[in-house]
Order: sequence, then structure tokens, then C-alpha cells
Amino acid sequence: MEEKESMLQKDFKSRDVQRMRNLITKKFGDKTVTQAGYTKAIIEHKEGDIWEENGKNWTIKNGLKQTITRLDNIKKSMLLPIVCPNCSKAMANDKLNKKMWPIHKMCFDCVITMETKLKKEGKFEEYQRNMVHSGVRTHIKEMEDML
Ligand SMILES: [Zn+2]
Repeated sequence: MEEKESMLQKDFKSRDVQRMRNLITKKFGDKTVTQAGYTKAIIEHKEGDIWEENGKNWTIKNGLKQTITRLDNIKKSMLLPIVCPNCSKAMANDKLNKKMWPIHKMCFDCVITMETKLKKEGKFEEYQRNMVHSGVRTHIKEMEDML
């Protein structure tokens, strides 16, 4: 029994020595250090970064890596800005703006102005068709389902 143990210890020790030697000589091809040789290009990301990985969107929030779901994107697209990027006027947090912002990225007044202009130019029908084609209707449906 004693002999067996000492043999195991000896075996273990020689393996350790071999591993140490491999590490020192950086002989990564050896089985014992395969893991050390396994390196993958790791891209460093910082707070607020958004990138795609394995078909998912990721971000770093409060120092934690996390996925951004489609729902988050929709939620984010619904958040009203302080001012309308089109007319620079304050964006009231009301029902009309909430409805128009995710679709048009401008305030309700701007949408009315734009649509009036399009109607005058006779381009409204075309515009409406394009909106439907670009999947806006699906987008609205998704938001309604969510709410
Ligand atoms: Zn506006």
C-alpha cells in the first residue's frame, strides 16, 4: 500500500514537473498546457458600447455585460427626447408625441406640418404607401402588443 502511494506521488510529481517545464518553455502543443495555448481574440468593450456577438446585441451597463433584447430596442425607440430634433422645440410628454416619435422621429406638430406639405404636393399617398412598406405598421403593432 505504501509503495503504491509513493508511486502515485512520484507519478504526480513528475507530471507536475513536466507541466512546469512546458509552461516555462512555452511548449503549448503539449497536452497538459493545451488550455494555456487556447487563446481567442478578445475585444475589449467599455461602458455603453453596443456590439453584436453570436447573433445577439450586447452592451455594458453598470460594468456588466448584458444582451439587448428586441424589446429593449423598442422601448428605447419609444423614449421621447427633450426636444424635437426637427424643430428644436420642447417635446411634450403627451400621447400624440408618444405615438409619433417612434414612427417619425419628430414631434406631432412636425408630423402634421410634413403631412400637410406632402398632401399639398400630392405626395401623401405615396408617402403613406412607403411607410407601410417599410414595416412601420408591424412596428406599431409590436408596440401596441407590448403596451
Ligand atoms: Zn418638431
